[in-house]
Amino acid sequence: APESGGGDGEGPTHRAIRPLSESVCGKVRGSVVTPSLASAVVELVLNSLDAGSSRIQVHIDLASFFLEVRDNGAGMGPDDLYCCALPGHTSKPRGGWGPGADGGAAATYGFRGEALASLSHFCTLEIASRPRGDPSQAFSKVVSDGRSAPIARAPERREVGTTVTCRNLFFNRPVVRKVLQGAPEQRELCAVASALRPLALVNPSACLSVHGSSAGASCPLSTARHPSVRHAFAALLPQTRAHAPAPPESTEARRGAMRVSLLLASPLEPARSRETQLLFVNGRPCARCAVSERVEEAYARALSSARFRDA
Ligand code: ADP
Ligand code: MG
Repeated sequence: APESGGGDGEGPTHRAIRPLSESVCGKVRGSVVTPSLASAVVELVLNSLDAGSSRIQVHIDLASFFLEVRDNGAGMGPDDLYCCALPGHTSKPRGGWGPGADGGAAATYGFRGEALASLSHFCTLEIASRPRGDPSQAFSKVVSDGRSAPIARAPERREVGTTVTCRNLFFNRPVVRKVLQGAPEQRELCAVASALRPLALVNPSACLSVHGSSAGASCPLSTARHPSVRHAFAALLPQTRAHAPAPPESTEARRGAMRVSLLLASPLEPARSRETQLLFVNGRPCARCAVSERVEEAYARALSSARFRDA
């Protein structure tokens, strides 16, 4: 993930949104986008992180199928706002890791220009933004069912950054809606928080929060700015004392544009769970893969020898 500059004039170099060529588009196309609340939130938060945001607020109102992600990142001017949410349009380094890649893709989460376009088929999407450095340019646009309305001046006086609002979420996915409607809000908020927690850990300089609508729903995630991943790990997982297995450098392996990092609570910690064994590839949390399985095996071995020592 990029270094976070916050809404204070620093941050990633601005790159205009441009279409990917058809051949690159075909190579980097993602698997079928599963419409779920957590995956929608994660994609929007990844965009906010890519924009160098230091504050990201997620608001969810399940009863009215409403989701909003507000950030203080680099924002977009009217030209970029016009292009964003068009399929295959991205401001990020081209082409991932495959042929035709320009090698910079590892620095950002996004590179396909797919998330907003695909989300716009599941809700009415409103994107409001003000770019850094130009207070007069606050614009918004509404995209519904993949079709964009003309961009307009943002109705509110807004700060630098971007707000993406999803209304009438999953209007055309009755099964997804039914599951959401039947679920207690707190449980859904916690699922979203669990999906975001590893991202918050690996981006310690961003403050991330998730809020629900009902008075009873408590905020399941609210992170402060931390100087390092280790500090974030300790704060987010208070049951651990945040031991990495060795100094942080040795928990990271690099080959070319690939960076694999590992974050583990010591096997001697009293509270251990999957949440304390985290694997990231280029800053992207990696749920279950061959590498994470090897890590779990090694962890289990370390655990049993620790138990043996303790006995
Ligand atoms: P990708 O992230 O792969 O580029 P997306 O559909 O997620 O594709 O986003 C399209 C483009 O819209 C991004 O490349 C970026 O330029 C712009 N964008 C999206 N969200 C934000 C945001 N929160 N802040 C600034 N720019 C954004
Ligand atoms: Mg994206």
